[in-house]
Amino acid sequence: MTDVFDLSSVQAAKLLHVSVRHVRKLGELKKLPTKRSGRFWYFSRQAILAYRNSVSDNRWMTREERFWAKVDRTGDCWIWTAASLGGYGQFGTEQGIQGAHRFSYEIVNGPIPSGLNVCHTCDTPLCVKPNHLFVGTQQENVVDSYDKGRHKMSQKGKEGVSTANKRRWADTVARQRMSAIMIDIWKVRKDISK
Ligand SMILES: [Zn+2]
Repeated sequence: MTDVFDLSSVQAAKLLHVSVRHVRKLGELKKLPTKRSGRFWYFSRQAILAYRNSVSDNRWMTREERFWAKVDRTGDCWIWTAASLGGYGQFGTEQGIQGAHRFSYEIVNGPIPSGLNVCHTCDTPLCVKPNHLFVGTQQENVVDSYDKGRHKMSQKGKEGVSTANKRRWADTVARQRMSAIMIDIWKVRKDISK
């Protein structure tokens, strides 16, 4: 198999998230095939992707790549498979630990307006699929999850919602709310101890 040298050293460096100097060093060390023409270096995209896959640690990964590597995307919901707290996935970045669903929302939509929660249309706290997420206030979150609960129950063929079911649902919501508060407390504590 012959390599096609279709990348400049700048493009190659970008693909590996390293400096141009670094990628040329890899060429000199024969870790990456390279073709030189005067002061220009060319690299093969195929060889670089193969090299990236061969490196077992995640030092070439961007934050987003590290994030998606922890997500099971086989089902309808995309489930976070790494650390979780209070039912919600947790993802660590240079800025500290944050909710995985919040990180996912921010990848696609940009920063979350302050004071707003990221809620799930699917009611699955571990889900990080961007189009299952929306921002809302705590109030909206509770109303929404109650509506969804009622929807689920009515789909099962029940007419209306029994008082017992309503109460059960309110308990669930209260528990979810409590765990969200616990996460906040835990975050504040972590900040203080830094
Ligand atoms: Zn989902």
